[in-house]
Amino acid sequence: MPALCLRVALPVPRPDLFDYLPPPAQTADPGWVGCRLRVPFGRRQLVGVVAAVEPAAEARPLREALERIDPTPLLAGELWQTLQWAARYYHAPLGEMLATALPSRLREGAARHDSRIRHWRLTEAGASARTGLRAGGRPRALVERLATGSQDEATLDEALPGWRAAARTLRGRGLVETVAVDAAAALPAAATVAPNQAQQAAIDAIVAALGGFQPILLDGVTGSGKTEVYLEAIAECLRRGRQALVLVPEIGLTPQTLRRFRQRLGVPVETLHSGLADGERARVWAAMADGQARVLVGTRSAVFCPLPRAGLIVIDEEHDGSYKQQDGVRYSARDLALVRGKALAVPVLLGSATPALESLAAARAGRYLHLRLAERAGGAKPPVVRVVDVRRRPLSAGLSPELREALAACLQRGEQALVFKNRRGYAPALLCHDCGWTAQCRRCDAALSVHRAGRRLLCHHCGAEARPPPACPDCGGLALQPQGTGTERIEEALTDAFPAARLVRVDRETTRGRDGLKAQLDRLGDGPGILVGTQMLAKGHDLPRLSLVAVVGVDEGLFSADFRAGERLAQLLVQVAGRAGRADRPGQVLLQTHHPDHPLLLTLLAGGYRLFADNALPEREAAGFPPFGYLALLRAEALEEAPLREFLAAARELAEAGAGARALTLHGPLPAPMLRRAGRMRWQLLLSSPSRPALQALLDRWTPALYDLKQARRVRWSLDVDPLDLY
Ligand code: ADP
Ligand code: ZN
Ligand code: ZN
Repeated sequence: MPALCLRVALPVPRPDLFDYLPPPAQTADPGWVGCRLRVPFGRRQLVGVVAAVEPAAEARPLREALERIDPTPLLAGELWQTLQWAARYYHAPLGEMLATALPSRLREGAARHDSRIRHWRLTEAGASARTGLRAGGRPRALVERLATGSQDEATLDEALPGWRAAARTLRGRGLVETVAVDAAAALPAAATVAPNQAQQAAIDAIVAALGGFQPILLDGVTGSGKTEVYLEAIAECLRRGRQALVLVPEIGLTPQTLRRFRQRLGVPVETLHSGLADGERARVWAAMADGQARVLVGTRSAVFCPLPRAGLIVIDEEHDGSYKQQDGVRYSARDLALVRGKALAVPVLLGSATPALESLAAARAGRYLHLRLAERAGGAKPPVVRVVDVRRRPLSAGLSPELREALAACLQRGEQALVFKNRRGYAPALLCHDCGWTAQCRRCDAALSVHRAGRRLLCHHCGAEARPPPACPDCGGLALQPQGTGTERIEEALTDAFPAARLVRVDRETTRGRDGLKAQLDRLGDGPGILVGTQMLAKGHDLPRLSLVAVVGVDEGLFSADFRAGERLAQLLVQVAGRAGRADRPGQVLLQTHHPDHPLLLTLLAGGYRLFADNALPEREAAGFPPFGYLALLRAEALEEAPLREFLAAARELAEAGAGARALTLHGPLPAPMLRRAGRMRWQLLLSSPSRPALQALLDRWTPALYDLKQARRVRWSLDVDPLDLY
């Protein structure tokens, strides 16, 4: 009988598994599946996961693995099944899928983290130590907090920054100690606001669905109290001893959101996001795996956390583009959450004021339960929207006189305004007024943006930076002028116009670093003031004193060619408009445009997002685009165009040969909408089919063959299943 060998998924760009013998003096058996292994690979060492244990093929001598890392499988059950499914669905090598899904520490082979949730409490000596500590110092503050009961580390992080150093000192003196507290024993606190009728109906429907798979679309206008509904449903899930996973968009995970969850739920709320240290990610992963942690709020990659006691999955702002990974394995966390919900037999709650057309179509077809919250909670009125036609009106820094007057009136009333422009920097281009030359990025087919009031040029596509030339390189003229308007320029103009008002700019430049967004918003305070910013302002944080939203940047988005551009713009406009006026303050929205008759704007004004969707869905259907057609985009890049054409033509031939009679349409090879980016040429081939299984069946046969094409050696290629956009 041949010996058993280990078939290992390794993080390398090959579709295959790699075969190894067990380390010396060990024997393989099926118990190795799901365990990590350290193996030699060429001259390197890699960490992989055993995907199968099979009889070794007689012919080939195999190398021995170096070390079995996990005594028991790290990956098992539903999560392991889902990850294998995802690798197949996205046509990614299993090893790369696993590398994407696992926290980096685990990926690199670190032992599983001790997941116990540590609580700190006073020792007997500590209970009477307070008077001996200096008033106003951190140790004293910590002792005072702990005097009310033991506290977990996440709560202390939130409540008492810098507490760790104090805790170490106090522990050294025997005044505090740590204990592992059974998280399951904690129960959520009662709701602080009574749900209104619509909220209660939604809560009842979700609670009724607990215990089985059910996608639920919570379609509720901004401020309608969706978060309260999530919290109530999660609380019920906790009472039943289950775990809840809450996915939030990349910029939705604000300290404000977390505080709300922690205060309401009364159990430790774990988080996963890009700003977290590697060790912390590994700890959270383990805590979920052991069932120690009960609630996880996280961004995209949190969808890969183990959920052994799953009760509910929530996806907040489910339409948000950040749920789709845009490099490496291009997975959709939203779609994977649904796959997991089905496997785990739990409801998946998708919340949004502007649901993705995919979700709306599914709800309308009866595949999702459709719950609506049509009105703002607590009796707040919807904002009044007015279009400001700026054709032939004098603009300065892109702002019309009407808009300036409205801002002045808002400040006069002691309220706050938001000026939305989806373009960071000072201006989108630098133009020679004499000859028409514009500053272009040397590595991209794109204009350089002007930043820092004209002192810097920056490419928004590759990050290249340059100093502005002293004179026009074409004609030698000196009339170089920033063209158009970005957030920086608006900030400058408003500072001149309203010198006494507080002005805060929120865009990628001003919010760098953890809590950058919060720090900026805190600067605004409670008094009269103006926020100027990009789409970062479209969601999240509650701004109770905001009564005016001025949109000055819609026109750029009205004429984009991408099939999802209209949907994105409609979502953005509705989301930004929704920021105006909450609670007792009616809000006002001004839409400044050169295209007041554009159908998208007219539709939104007449019937809001719902009417937009009513019109957009039939258009998608006619064009065979999602959710009525299924897409896969093969992208390729190289220094020259010829190899791209050759590779994609060969790929197309393969697809045609493999497609048979199945309904499949191929578009391309075509240059990408932005042909050159970061010095590389980009081409693509689009596959579409009205049938998902037909498309998948083709990809199953086609993708492995792409690796072996000789033309593939001269290009970098990637496959995007269910692409969000086509560039
Ligand atoms: P959404 O997530 O739908 O935008 P939130 O849950 O953030 O809405 O609620 C918006 C505001 O309304 C919050 O300030 C919240 O405290 C308040 N709110 C929610 N539900 C109620 C309710 N039933 N009664 C009074 N106020 C409520
Ligand atoms: Zn010139
Ligand atoms: Zn560039």
